Amino acid sequence: MLSKHIRFLYNDMSKRLIHNSSILCKKKRMHPVLRTLKILKDDLKNLSPSFIETEMKALSAFPSHTDILVIGGGVIGTSVAYWIREKTGLKGPSVTVIEKDPTFSKSSAALSMGGLRQQFSLPENVQMSLFGVEFLRSLKDRFDSDADVCFTPNGYLTLVGEDGVQPLLDNHIIQKELGALNILLNKTELKQRFSWLNTDDIEMGCLGLAKEGWFDPWSLLNLLKKGATDLGTRFIHAELLDFVSHDTEFIISGEKEAEYTGINEAIVRMPNGEEKSIEFAICVLAAGNETNVIAKKANIGTGKGLLSIPIPLELRNRYVYNVVCEGESPRINMPMTFDQSGIYFRRNGLGGSYFVGMSPFVGEESQTNITEKEFFNEAISPILAERVPAFKSLKIHSSSSGCYEYNYFDQNGILGQHPYYGNIYFAAGFSGQGIQQAPALGRGIAELILDGKYQTIDLTRLGFDRLIVDKPMYELGTL
Ligand SMILES: Cc1cc2nc3c(=O)[nH]c(=O)nc-3n(C[C@H](O)[C@H](O)[C@H](O)COP(=O)(O)OP(=O)(O)OC[C@H]3O[C@@H](n4cnc5c(N)ncnc54)[C@H](O)[C@@H]3O)c2cc1C
Repeated sequence: MLSKHIRFLYNDMSKRLIHNSSILCKKKRMHPVLRTLKILKDDLKNLSPSFIETEMKALSAFPSHTDILVIGGGVIGTSVAYWIREKTGLKGPSVTVIEKDPTFSKSSAALSMGGLRQQFSLPENVQMSLFGVEFLRSLKDRFDSDADVCFTPNGYLTLVGEDGVQPLLDNHIIQKELGALNILLNKTELKQRFSWLNTDDIEMGCLGLAKEGWFDPWSLLNLLKKGATDLGTRFIHAELLDFVSHDTEFIISGEKEAEYTGINEAIVRMPNGEEKSIEFAICVLAAGNETNVIAKKANIGTGKGLLSIPIPLELRNRYVYNVVCEGESPRINMPMTFDQSGIYFRRNGLGGSYFVGMSPFVGEESQTNITEKEFFNEAISPILAERVPAFKSLKIHSSSSGCYEYNYFDQNGILGQHPYYGNIYFAAGFSGQGIQQAPALGRGIAELILDGKYQTIDLTRLGFDRLIVDKPMYELGTL
């Protein structure tokens, strides 16, 4: 069915392009666009339906080899796969994504509120989220006219007390310079704009306008997956168990000069328990909060020298609640709000339903054993009712708990090549911002792999090197 569809598309598109370009090329001085069409015409001749059919057949078998293996089919791994094929097309390197749980029951995307903001302190994070909004706004052109992630540009509001004013002002300058559309509001302006807000202990707020809000993370994941699949990525339901290493000795003038242990083979377990091996040229570790565990299978963090440095990610529990406010409540006039207390909330539709969560501050994190309901009643409810008096009588409609990939080194993502294994790349540790940044992260890794360096947003500072030289790069706006 799929190959039939592709054959139809191919025939239709190539006929039109070949026809148009041959008419246009008869003119003497060729416009650059016409020249491109002519080249495209020649390429399409090579891309025969039988070539596509062979590719489709190969996709359904378990491969013994892939050029690029991605571990983790969450939003970030899928985005990496999408961008590699987007940049290279059907004839690019083969890409295989291994995902152990296609229901994503424990992945962070399941918990994500889909918030999108440019309110960060590091330029890289602001730029990635700006690209995130640009990507969401171009979905229909990129995928198809039905593509939609329900982006709601209802704004993002950060509230700070006296201590937070200076960092908010400093960050605002960076954000504005880079193209964010944020405004600062003082106590009075906040009260005028958001009558539902208790501003007693609030000094200032930063409100993101058209480029901030929220969207549906599941829809983004599915669109990226469909896009990557259409471009020839193979998604396999399997769990990475181990890597196979091999030693190479470098002998120069008869003397052993050096030894290198490389990895280019992975062992995976299929859903029926069978174990299979797959060789790869490049492997991208994008396994969310399990990336550190997987890195250890490649001796990262347990070996010597450069291999002694671990990936500083650990699991942190997070709860998210869907609550209902039966009385009068803020409804449409409520942006995604992040309070100085660590509580964040946003409306869910217009019928009095809201999402609420809480991020403890750095150093104050406690892995409590209390239930989701107890956590809400003891830690969240009293602060929330103080901030939004209308929220005094909320009912929990549903709640979910899961783990968040927390970078205990500097609360920022780790992106790029491993310094020892030139063929292992990381894309993990993006805490509470990974969904909105997934398009930029995937594109960045694709550039590194295919072009050898970042071409669009320079994300070099997010690389592994900062762990080697012990220079944390703190993101003050991490939730
Ligand atoms: C409570 C909460 C709220 C959040 N809110 C936001 C928000 O508002 N905005 C935002 O941008 N971000 C938010 N995030 C962050 C965002 O959800 C994550 O950064 C993002 O989902 C990470 O994507 P990922 O692909 O790296 O990880 P995941 O989605 O966790 O995917 C990793 C995948 O790897 C797979 N895997 C693991 N081990 C193996 C293995 N051995 N073999 C094969 N597969 C494996 C897992 O099954 C999983 O599907 C939030 C996160 C939490 C927890």
